Amino acid sequence: MSSAVVEAKNLFAKFDDNGDGLISEDEFEEGYRMFFDADEGMIRELKEHLRCRKTGRFDYITWSMTLSPRDLPRITRACREQGPLSMATPTEEELELIENMYNRGYALAEEAAQNGTRLLIDAEQVRFQPAIDNLVLDLQQKYNSTEKSNFPLIYNTYQCYLKDAFDRLTIDVERSERFDFHFGAKLVRGAYMESERYLAKKGGYPSPIHDTIQDTHDCYNQAVDYLLQHASQKNGKNTELMLATHNRESIENAIASMNKHGISRKAATTAFGQLYGMADNLSFNLGKHGYERSTRYFLVHCVRKLALTFNSLFLALPDTEPTSMSLTEKLRWSCLT
Ligand SMILES: Cc1cc2nc3c(=O)[nH]c(=O)nc-3n(C[C@H](O)[C@H](O)[C@H](O)COP(=O)(O)OP(=O)(O)OC[C@H]3O[C@@H](n4cnc5c(N)ncnc54)[C@H](O)[C@@H]3O)c2cc1C
Repeated sequence: MSSAVVEAKNLFAKFDDNGDGLISEDEFEEGYRMFFDADEGMIRELKEHLRCRKTGRFDYITWSMTLSPRDLPRITRACREQGPLSMATPTEEELELIENMYNRGYALAEEAAQNGTRLLIDAEQVRFQPAIDNLVLDLQQKYNSTEKSNFPLIYNTYQCYLKDAFDRLTIDVERSERFDFHFGAKLVRGAYMESERYLAKKGGYPSPIHDTIQDTHDCYNQAVDYLLQHASQKNGKNTELMLATHNRESIENAIASMNKHGISRKAATTAFGQLYGMADNLSFNLGKHGYERSTRYFLVHCVRKLALTFNSLFLALPDTEPTSMSLTEKLRWSCLT
C-alpha cells in the first residue's frame, strides 16, 4: 500500500510540467494524455475529484489527500504502458486487506470518539509510513473535523530524525487548515535509525536520516516551536502536540516556547510523554510544576520495540551485520528507544 500511495503522489510531479507545485488545466490534460488512453469522461471525472474546492486549482495538498490507493485500479486500467503507478496498483486481494486495515482504524477511532480519548498513532519505518499516514489522514479528516469535535482526537507521529520531517509536518498543518480539521501531532526523534541507515545503504538510496544528531535535535526543537506558534493563532481550530521525548533540553526549549507564545501549562495544547521508568525524574518534575498533561507510558511500548528488534536481528542474520552493536547493546537500545 505504501508504494501505491507514493506512486499516486509521484503522478502529481509528472503532471506538473513546469514544477511550480500547481497543475494547470493544460498540464492536467497533457499529462493525462501522455500516460493514459484519453477518455474524455474519465478526464472530466478525475479533474472534479482532484480539484481543490476552495481555489479551483490542482495542487499537491488536495491531490495527496484525495487520490487514494483505492482509486488506482480504475485509473491505471487506462495506462498506456506498464510503469511504476500500474505496478503499484493494489490487486483485488490487496484492496480487501486495505479495506480491512481502514475498518480496524475506524473501529479504534470510533471507540476513542465515544470515550472522548485522544488516539495517538505510532510512526514506523519509512517503508511503511506512507500507508500509515494515508490512514491517519483519513481518520483525521473524519474525526478531527471542527464540526464533530472541539479538539484533535487523532494524532499522527512525526520522527524528527527524518530529513523530510519538518516539510511533511508543515504540509500536514496546511492541509488541516484547508480541510478544516484540528491538528494533533506526537513528536519523537525516531526509533529505527540503525535499520533505516542499513536499508538505505543496502538499497543504494540516500539515507532518510539526518546526518548528525544535532540536525535531529534542531529539527525536533524547530517542529515544537512551529507547532506552538501555530497553536497560539486562534482561528477556530485547535493544534495540540505531545512531546514524546526523554531529552531534557527539548523539554526546556518547549517550556520556553510555550511562554513565548503565551500557552498555559494547564492548556490541552501541550502534553509530555516518557516511557515508564525511563525518565521518571522528568515526568515527576513536569507534574510537580503544573504541566498537567505529563504522562508515563507503560512497558507495552518497550515490549513492542523488543519484539521489533528481535525481528530485525533475525531478519538481518543471514545478511551482513547492519550495525556494530552487540546483542546486549541492541536489546538495551531497543528498550531505550
Ligand atoms: C511516549 C513515547 C512514544 C514513542 N513513540 C514512538 C513512535 O511512534 N515511533 C518511533 O519511531 N519512536 C517512538 N518513540 C521513541 C523515540 O523515537 C526515541 O527513540 C526515544 O524516545 C529517544 O529519543 P529522545 O527524544 O529521548 O532523544 P535523545 O535520547 O536525546 O536522542 C536519541 C535519538 O536521537 C536520534 N539520533 C541519535 N544519533 C543520531 C545521529 N547520529 N544522527 C541523527 N539522529 C540521531 C535517534 O532518533 C535517537 O533515538 C517514542 C518514545 C516515547 C517516549
